[in-house]
Amino acid sequence: MKLEEQIKNLPAGIEYLFNVPMAAYTTYKTGGAADVLALPADAARLKEILIFARGAGLPARVLCMGSNILVSGGGLRGITICLKNMRGFEINGTLLRAAAGEPLDNIAAAAVNAGLEGMEFLSGIPGSCGGAVYMNAGAYGQETFDCLESFTVLDKNLETKVLTKTQARHGYRRVEGIEGCIILSAAWRLRPARDAAALNTRRADTLAKRIQKQPLDYPSAGSVFKRPLDNFASALIDKCGLKGLRAGGAMVSPKHAGFIINYDNATPQDVKNLMDEVQKRVLAQTGVKLELEQILWGDF
Ligand SMILES: Cc1cc2nc3c(=O)[nH]c(=O)nc-3n(C[C@H](O)[C@H](O)[C@H](O)COP(=O)(O)OP(=O)(O)OC[C@H]3O[C@@H](n4cnc5c(N)ncnc54)[C@H](O)[C@@H]3O)c2cc1C
Repeated sequence: MKLEEQIKNLPAGIEYLFNVPMAAYTTYKTGGAADVLALPADAARLKEILIFARGAGLPARVLCMGSNILVSGGGLRGITICLKNMRGFEINGTLLRAAAGEPLDNIAAAAVNAGLEGMEFLSGIPGSCGGAVYMNAGAYGQETFDCLESFTVLDKNLETKVLTKTQARHGYRRVEGIEGCIILSAAWRLRPARDAAALNTRRADTLAKRIQKQPLDYPSAGSVFKRPLDNFASALIDKCGLKGLRAGGAMVSPKHAGFIINYDNATPQDVKNLMDEVQKRVLAQTGVKLELEQILWGDF
């Protein structure tokens, strides 16, 4: 059956956009169109779309803030599901629970405002609760999993399961055993801060450091490469003299060598070509093979 026919049967009560450029849903601000973008408001509606996609034999993928994804110019077939409308959080004592689509920075801010420590160094990461758990986002020595108590997923069989932190092996920007699962919510057990003013300062300093060090004036998806063992990707790229290197409209940020910025209407292929070029030159000059942290969707 043609997609036009199939989409007539999409579950009701959910916001859909058709043939929507992913440039509008990713922080790189470039990317081809998704055939169908669904924006469910809750887990029940998310499940309905997934059941529909399976029944119709359509691929389905999930994103949230799109701050770690590069979508190819050819776009995305099937159903792309954006969780950014699945919002909300609550604090009970030292337990902070948040829904998948809640921005991570809101969660960090709420914790700090409640005088709870454990998430303040995650301030300013422009991802979501679900995106942060999915890849154990982190910064300045703190990781999403540090204070995580448990998280709820919709598993491959579309069953809802609660996993404790220890049930998912995790490491640097890596969580194992959750392939094919969609994170619905997460709960962090935080610590009452001894000094609330110092906690506030730590958040403010973290935000200031990001403004000072990162090229936030340009679209990007943060650090392109994972940190190699005993080294920093940005230091290696800088050492190879690659700051300012361009491929079409994409550029290695002159401010932070670990970022590729959409400098001037970059196409997704410009960004990908620059990723490849940086990898090639760093390998040739230092012997280190940089591993991509960002996620590529579509055909490159
Ligand atoms: C300026 C800038 C600075 C950044 N700084 C940092 C940093 O300091 N540290 C850091 O770790 N990252 C950083 N990032 C990258 C990014 O913000 C994080 O990786 C973030 O966790 C991604 O969340 P997201 O909601 O945007 O995920 P998306 O980009 O939407 O998705 C990323 C991946 O997660 C999956 N995913 C998303 N939500 C779910 C879910 N609910 N269930 C299952 N899978 C899901 C997607 O399928 C995809 O594979 C930065 C990005 C930018 C643009």
